[in-house]
Amino acid sequence: MPLRIYPLRILGMGLGGTVAAVVLWERNASVLAWIGMVLPAFVWPHVAYLLTRRSKNPYRTETRNLLIDSAMAASFVPLMHFNLLPSVLLLTLTMVDKITTGIRGLWARSIPAMLAGGVAGTVFAGFHWAPDTSMRVIMACLPVMTLHTLSVSIVSYRLIRKTAQQNQLLDELRRVDALTGLFGRGHWQEQAEAALRRHHTLAEPASMLMLDIDHFKAINDTHGHTVGDEVIRALAHVVRGSVRASDCAGRFGGDEFAIVLPGMRVQEALAVAHRIRAQTEAVRLRQLPEVRITSSIGVAAASHRHGTLRAWIDAADAALYTAKHSGRNRVASDPEAETPPAV
Ligand code: GH3
Ligand code: MG
Repeated sequence: MPLRIYPLRILGMGLGGTVAAVVLWERNASVLAWIGMVLPAFVWPHVAYLLTRRSKNPYRTETRNLLIDSAMAASFVPLMHFNLLPSVLLLTLTMVDKITTGIRGLWARSIPAMLAGGVAGTVFAGFHWAPDTSMRVIMACLPVMTLHTLSVSIVSYRLIRKTAQQNQLLDELRRVDALTGLFGRGHWQEQAEAALRRHHTLAEPASMLMLDIDHFKAINDTHGHTVGDEVIRALAHVVRGSVRASDCAGRFGGDEFAIVLPGMRVQEALAVAHRIRAQTEAVRLRQLPEVRITSSIGVAAASHRHGTLRAWIDAADAALYTAKHSGRNRVASDPEAETPPAV
């Protein structure tokens, strides 16, 4: 932090000091007033840097330095005999600098520091009231005004970009399952709910496959968890290769996958399931080609009986249960579904 603030403080205090210098020069100020300007504007930034570098707690020291900045900027106000534009400008920018540090409450703590600086400046330079601002002083204010505004804007721009990128990353992490790259459960459920809503409102068909690897525990127990993970990834690869871009394949948990096929009736969905089942059987792991993998799949088409997503999932789960209990490595459809009307 000290290294980053050092050049900014040199620039900020220097430009502020230059504005004050023009005011002092206009009214032929005393040597004492000049010293009161030069020390904070051109000496203090280097002292602050050394203090922070030597500190055991640089963060705390730098926070204190920022408050001293506020006090010093405020001390310029009586020194400039309350010359209106530079006084308001320096006090405002001082406050903006405290806010943009992002340190909680620093701006509030800066208020007593500024009052103290104002009082100290008045004691040092006496109280003189001359608020009129000349064209020359206005000109001297321009560099600090424009440079400061631009630099704050650039910092905010970078921050906004970074926040947007991080939000995108967070969203992706939330949506995608880390092991398989398939959708995570939360995002999958949102998509499934949308498909069910479209079924209810637009009578658009939709089907769901619920897939579970057979005897997966045995694979884990025999070959270890790493091989288990490889099997899960291989299954995800089969699933991804068997569905369309508009379908939504998710990892439902452990060795269970769930796929929503919008626009698909049960017969077509059964065909997809059979393809996945056959391709699962054909999977060979590169390290352990002797390992055989099979999967059981339950299929359920969305129907008016499914008032909630839970009900639809339960129907696909019941079909999966049927597939498991009739011997595994097979596909079964929702046992409660009506026979689809003949077309
Ligand atoms: P079934 O044929 O009845 O499905 O038998 P199964 O052995 O596959 O039983 P089940 O589906 O209940 O087993 C799931 C196992 O998956 C239990 C758990 O230890 C394991 N598992 C869950 N998540 C992971 C994972 O991310 N990686 C690995 N390697 N194993 C996992
Ligand atoms: Mg299983």
